[in-house]
Amino acid sequence: MVEDGSPQLREVMAALVPYAGHAQVVGITGSPGVGKSTATNALVKELRRSGHRVGVLAVDPSSPFSGGALLGDRVRMQDHATDPGVYIRSMASRGHLGGLSWTTPQAMRVLDAAGCDVVIVETVGVGQSEVEIAGLADTTVVLMAPGLGDGIQAAKAGILEIADVYVVNKADRDGAEQVRRELRSAVALADRPEGSWKPPIVMAVAQSGRGLDELVEELDRHRGWLEQSGELTRRRTRRAREEIEAIAVAALREKWEDVSGAQQLGGDLDALAEAVVAGEKDPYAAADELVGTATG
Ligand code: GDP
Repeated sequence: MVEDGSPQLREVMAALVPYAGHAQVVGITGSPGVGKSTATNALVKELRRSGHRVGVLAVDPSSPFSGGALLGDRVRMQDHATDPGVYIRSMASRGHLGGLSWTTPQAMRVLDAAGCDVVIVETVGVGQSEVEIAGLADTTVVLMAPGLGDGIQAAKAGILEIADVYVVNKADRDGAEQVRRELRSAVALADRPEGSWKPPIVMAVAQSGRGLDELVEELDRHRGWLEQSGELTRRRTRRAREEIEAIAVAALREKWEDVSGAQQLGGDLDALAEAVVAGEKDPYAAADELVGTATG
């Protein structure tokens, strides 16, 4: 229902309100090949060991396919396919409803309300997605690995600011120590206000599960800091703000076009665009007209 933007969603979301807000949302990001899906699988295993119920949303921001179509690709996650304490779904996010900001938070809320203690949102590290994921998560885990040209120098702008926990994966490979050293100095050099969180660096071998117990400890420690510092509420308020905005914009857009792009009401976007190009209208007047027909 979330993926389809079902009209019943409004009712469902209202009913879920009293049940949501307990899960820790953990975002996992990093370059392709760094070991995200292997690490997610290992993290699920570790969390299950301590009896946590886990939801996993694997978000592919570049994919036009929707609704679990990609799940077949995530073979490493099949380990948990028959475990009733684990729910896994692949989601595309470039649907007609807009990006990550629309479907992902709602899917997160459903899993939260359904009793997941941890909701993992794993994303393919392309474009802006890692920064978007940080906006959605309580705790953002950034994966790095040796041999991917994935040193600090190569790390994309923004990625160092969003990490709450670093994982140097493939610690069984040459170069892992070097990645850790570089990260250490980057963390030491970063400007941080008093009392703020200093991102730890966890060494891991996702394939064998090594270091995953330490990752779980760091996730717990971060959750504790989030609560005690008030940052949890700040982050969630920011998230809710973006979600409200995304829903409002989507609702507005729906009024002037249906899913196929055909015009419904008087606000004919194509005609307005033509008028702007022909110099008959300025874009502000055209936008007023569009919004006016949608809200009026
Ligand atoms: P993703 O693209 O970030 O999701 O990366 P994958 O989880 O698909 O892993 C990419 C490749 O790295 C796969 O061939 C994994 O088997 C391998 N891999 C993952 N974790 C480790 C690790 O800790 N050590 C080694 N040597 N290889 C790993």
